[in-house]
Amino acid sequence: MHSMTDPITLDMLRAKLKEWKGCELHTTANPVLGEGNPKARVMFIGEAPGQREDELGRPFVGAAGQFLDELLGTIGLERSDVYITNVVKYRPPANRDPTPEEKEQCMPWLMLEIAVIKPRVVVPLGRHALGHFFTKLSITTAHGKPQTLTDTVTAFPIFHPAAALHNGNLRQSLYDDFKALGAFLKKEKIS
Ligand code: URA
Repeated sequence: MHSMTDPITLDMLRAKLKEWKGCELHTTANPVLGEGNPKARVMFIGEAPGQREDELGRPFVGAAGQFLDELLGTIGLERSDVYITNVVKYRPPANRDPTPEEKEQCMPWLMLEIAVIKPRVVVPLGRHALGHFFTKLSITTAHGKPQTLTDTVTAFPIFHPAAALHNGNLRQSLYDDFKALGAFLKKEKIS
């Protein structure tokens, strides 16, 4: 039995999300909560699951996920060191962009994940995730630089790895931004 004073765990969130009907996307897709280290200091936040993520019920396991794994490796991190999640918890049909309503409906899950993990750095991947934290920042100008979020949490926006899969310039930008992220984590003694 869960008592009010017991901490909320990721397993509890995952079980609750399975029963949740607060977003219409639950009728067409499987729930995908984040995964990774429950004590992670760095949390990566994408947009919404794609086809592979929907099939496996895990975030970032398709082509974009493989690139994300590679990028993590360039700064000496593995998936098991960090936490990886999405703003929207279900795959939108045919991978269309999530609607503002879907993002708003799913938002409490991301807030709960942040409350459980308590990361020091959140890394919004792409404009959808960035827009969740900063309505006035554009990913084109804000990427690759730390942005103050609260006294204890810094955001470090980076382009979405999927956007770079077919664009050589963006690909280089992601390598550069990860290098900057690695240097920032080291300077702040975060990893
Ligand atoms: N793209 C995302 O934004 N999230 C995933 O989980 C996979 C691809």
